[in-house]
Amino acid sequence: MSASSRIPPIAQPFVSERAKKTLDLVEEFVEKDCIPGDAVFSAELGEGEKRWQTTPVIMEQLKEKAKKLGLWNMFLSKTHFKQGAGFSNLEYGLMAEILGKSKIASEATNNAAPDTGNMEVLAKYGNDAQKQQWLAPLLEGKIRSAFLMTEPDVASSDATNIELDIRREGNEYVLNGSKWWSSGAGDPRCQIYLVMGKTDPNNSDTYKQQSVVLVPAGTRGVTINRMLHVYGYDDAPHGHGHITFENVRVPLSAMVLGEGRGFEIIQGRLGPGRIHHAMRTIGAAEKALEWMINRINDDRKQTFGKPLASHGVILEWVAKSRIEVDSARLIVLNAAIKIDQGDAKAALKEIAQAKVLVPQTALTIIDRAVQAYGAAGVCQDTPLAYLWAGIRTLRIADGPDEVHLQQLGRRENRSRKDAIAAKLKWQREESDRLLLAAGFKAKSHL
Ligand SMILES: Cc1cc2nc3c(=O)[nH]c(=O)nc-3n(C[C@H](O)[C@H](O)[C@H](O)COP(=O)(O)OP(=O)(O)OC[C@H]3O[C@@H](n4cnc5c(N)ncnc54)[C@H](O)[C@@H]3O)c2cc1C
Repeated sequence: MSASSRIPPIAQPFVSERAKKTLDLVEEFVEKDCIPGDAVFSAELGEGEKRWQTTPVIMEQLKEKAKKLGLWNMFLSKTHFKQGAGFSNLEYGLMAEILGKSKIASEATNNAAPDTGNMEVLAKYGNDAQKQQWLAPLLEGKIRSAFLMTEPDVASSDATNIELDIRREGNEYVLNGSKWWSSGAGDPRCQIYLVMGKTDPNNSDTYKQQSVVLVPAGTRGVTINRMLHVYGYDDAPHGHGHITFENVRVPLSAMVLGEGRGFEIIQGRLGPGRIHHAMRTIGAAEKALEWMINRINDDRKQTFGKPLASHGVILEWVAKSRIEVDSARLIVLNAAIKIDQGDAKAALKEIAQAKVLVPQTALTIIDRAVQAYGAAGVCQDTPLAYLWAGIRTLRIADGPDEVHLQQLGRRENRSRKDAIAAKLKWQREESDRLLLAAGFKAKSHL
């Protein structure tokens, strides 16, 4: 059954024939080239310091193949860039699900974070010179990039806390401060950092204090102190850097959009990106389910005289996982349709729903798959341990669950409370009226 024939009926009317064909091509490329290539990529990286200096050959080979197949930059809509592939968020979302089944497929098709978000920023907010210098090579997959917002010394889920100082001196900006969890900064091909800091820390509007500037990697005064591990995985060669800025000088032309526009940029950057993460995560959950089904039907490894699939509880895991993946997918596709019909701002509620629900759902499914494998599930012989570690971070990265839930709850409460109060009051009064008319005397105390 092809990927295009598995599109949920509710989404079918919104998917073009061109997108369906591309979706099937993506599936073939991921299943036949990328997933088998995952192990080659890891083997080529090898051990020790070399992991940060190597660009695995397989990646460049896959990129060439993806370009020839037309599987390139599918995330970028034509709205913001004429070279964009022209797919809707829904169409790309379906493709991202399949990309999420392989460690390397997103990069091989130039749809990998954080480059996708950074390319969107440059396409939407960059000037011509910035586009030419940084967006063009990113679009071609020749360089990589990092987005530096989070800082080690402040609670960064509230981005108004960001402290990195960006001070104007003559015709330059001077940067001082530190950043961590700078994903992608370990890659030798990472040439540009989009750095968020404060240009106007005393502005009474706390959302106008921040700006984003472009800092080429290797600029004097930039030091990558160390690479952080995610549950013991180094994620090389991409990695997550802890970086300090000491009197780092960039020209005034490095400013994106304008001083004080930093919040606008991060908000514009994260909307569709969250859907991309969510769809890739659905793909990871599907992959975990595939591995689970494979293990429970393995006749060589029976327990108490029968394969695991013959134990009722295990089939229940499969059933629950199926229900959960399918429900989560609908939540994400709904958010993607909502973005397509308006914009990310109009879909804040739906995006937050997907951002919170999908990683939690996927973690539950991956955990069941781990359990089905026994000890094998926690070691390197299945992709499950790595999948779990990567997806666990999504409950924190791009804003922790609690922040999204708080905003979602506040919005839901605010938008509905008055209408609900009025409706329930009317219904109570109407009930009373009907009861009295029918000769009863019942009255609610509420
Ligand atoms: C693998 C990975 C990759 C990342 N990549 C990048 C990157 O490329 N660039 C970048 O800038 N950052 C990146 N980050 C950082 C990430 O975006 C931040 O970790 C995140 O925004 C949370 O900030 P913090 O770690 O400072 O947590 P804090 O702000 O200190 O929050 C700690 C905890 O407090 C709780 N909390 C916060 N607010 C509330 C609230 N309102 N109500 C209740 N509880 C609350 C939450 O449980 C939260 O986890 C990455 C993180 C990870 C793990």
